[in-house]
Amino acid sequence: MLIDMHCDTILAVYRNQQPGGIYSHKGHLDLQRLLESGINIQFFALFPESIYRPGRSLHRVLEMLDFFWEQLEENFDLMDIIACKADLSKCLRTGKIGSLLAVEGGEVLEGELRILRVLYRLGIRSLGLTWNYRNEIADGVAENQTGGGLTKFGVQVIKEMNRLGMIIDVSHLAERGFWDVLELSNSPVIASHSNSRAVWNHPRNLSDEQIKGLAQNGGVVGINFVPDFLGPPGAGLDDLLKHIEHICTLVGDDFLGLGSDFDGTKTLISEIQDVTHLSRIVEALRKRGYPEESIRKISGENCLRVLTQVLQ
Ligand SMILES: [Zn+2]
Repeated sequence: MLIDMHCDTILAVYRNQQPGGIYSHKGHLDLQRLLESGINIQFFALFPESIYRPGRSLHRVLEMLDFFWEQLEENFDLMDIIACKADLSKCLRTGKIGSLLAVEGGEVLEGELRILRVLYRLGIRSLGLTWNYRNEIADGVAENQTGGGLTKFGVQVIKEMNRLGMIIDVSHLAERGFWDVLELSNSPVIASHSNSRAVWNHPRNLSDEQIKGLAQNGGVVGINFVPDFLGPPGAGLDDLLKHIEHICTLVGDDFLGLGSDFDGTKTLISEIQDVTHLSRIVEALRKRGYPEESIRKISGENCLRVLTQVLQ
């Protein structure tokens, strides 16, 4: 069981406009390589680029969403969408790639709960509340100096996501908002692509206190493969393993997952250049003596637990 909790591949494929589409995309992953890698569930984040933010981010996400459904129809023999709990076991049974659709950046809601519900109806099952900046829901990590948490609208969004069975994603969210979400949410939340700040001090990473909070909430942290978030220049697989090890020591092995950020970054660590190299993490964990049970949890079972708890 292998789950990757974050990639920006839909945007990359949409912008490339190559005939093979998602089946044979040249970036960090495509359908062929996902199948080759043994990935069971891939989160696909729809991320509106800066020039569309804030005014036209919803428009941009809808374009990508239509493009995704087009790609899904073209490749329906190989991939499927995860919309409810039952779809989880279905995709494991059929061997199709299960696609979990996410939006990265709550500004797409334009301060309107109805848009959240419409996106849900269109297949979106996870929302990254903010990107790096402020929106109607909360402040992102680049606004940390204000100390701003969830807005009134943000509170409504959390409640509505809980009610609908949507996965709340706190990666990119400023710390005060992070704690507001944990206090408010009655289901587990994810940090789909963030690492440990104790291992490498980067604003996109989580403090030990945050990781403990997330663990208490039953959520999952998806380890991100971007070198900047892992360690000093030239960071590699060893650094990535330090984050895994630190979090395991801090809270145990029940709250870790993988959140590659494939196609959301130009640079990756030298050992992992695309999705087919994911198995190198598994091999490295094995070499370091991690029990098979822990490896299974980290590579997918922990995330599956959250999906099972949250989705309807
Ligand atoms: Zn991101």
